[in-house]
Amino acid sequence: MKNLGIIGWPLDGSLSPLLHSRFLSQAGINGGYTAFEIKESMELPILLHFLERFKFSGLNVTSPHKQAILSHVQDVDDSVRLLGAANTVALTKNGWKAYNTDSYGFGRQLDADGIEVAGKNILIFGAGGAARAVVQACRERGAGGVTVVNRTLPRVEQMRAIFPDMTLSYSSFEGLKEAGLFDILINALPADWSNSIWLDRFWAGKEKLFSPAVVIDLQYMPRSTPFLNLFSNAAKKYNGFTMLVEQAAMSFGIWCGVRPEYSVKELELAAYKE
Ligand code: NAP
Repeated sequence: MKNLGIIGWPLDGSLSPLLHSRFLSQAGINGGYTAFEIKESMELPILLHFLERFKFSGLNVTSPHKQAILSHVQDVDDSVRLLGAANTVALTKNGWKAYNTDSYGFGRQLDADGIEVAGKNILIFGAGGAARAVVQACRERGAGGVTVVNRTLPRVEQMRAIFPDMTLSYSSFEGLKEAGLFDILINALPADWSNSIWLDRFWAGKEKLFSPAVVIDLQYMPRSTPFLNLFSNAAKKYNGFTMLVEQAAMSFGIWCGVRPEYSVKELELAAYKE
């Protein structure tokens, strides 16, 4: 029996329950996947204690708890040691152990879509947990540097400490006017890009944003996301669904000891009900 779940806020549009329910069924494992909507990180220890008591095997951890969860686990794997953020915890005989499968997931998305990052001018919006995972996947594929756009500088400085062998240039939204042109744009912000506050930020740098070959939005709802819709002329546009599936499959393997068999295309049809 495998009791699995996800902790985060908000979880309304999360597709993780759908994916993991299918993985359980496909692997012939009796179990379930429950969403625990928690806004305040101070509630994490109460929930973890409860889930341990009821023999949960593992959880996904999403925004805003990816860093806070680390204060409540007994062990971390190398990916978490490097990135300082976790998206997965598993209950072991020694307590909760944290993992990060986001970087693996994003890397698989780059490979699946044939996106070369080495030698490219890459712009990442955001400097949170997901952005760190994106930088690591790009680094593993030969990228020497990226430009990070974030509201504030300190998180980018934290990223520089994590990746001392990469050139991480910082830009404010307004500062994009002075930046070079970019080949690849990646949105790793939990932003509502249909909202005028975010659109004003976007337009501040528009001259430098309109000729990328590739645009990737880590968000995946709706399928054609507001961020992707800003780029009517981009040659290639991808939402974060492939990353979601790949990071989920790796988490499932950690919890259940077997890799699920799946087709991203079939899961996409089920997720978007087409
Ligand atoms: P996170 O760690 O909570 O992201 C924090 C980032 O958002 C920081 O850069 C922060 O900037 C910025 N931010 C937050 N509120 C802001 C505001 N009001 N104005 C300006 N900036 C703000 O989240 P995350 O885990 O990195 O996730 C980012 C996005 O990626 C989410 O939409 C998530 O759903 C998505 N994601 C997708 C997948 C997938 O599998 N497809 C996996 C992981 C994440 P400051 O430093 O200035 O606060």
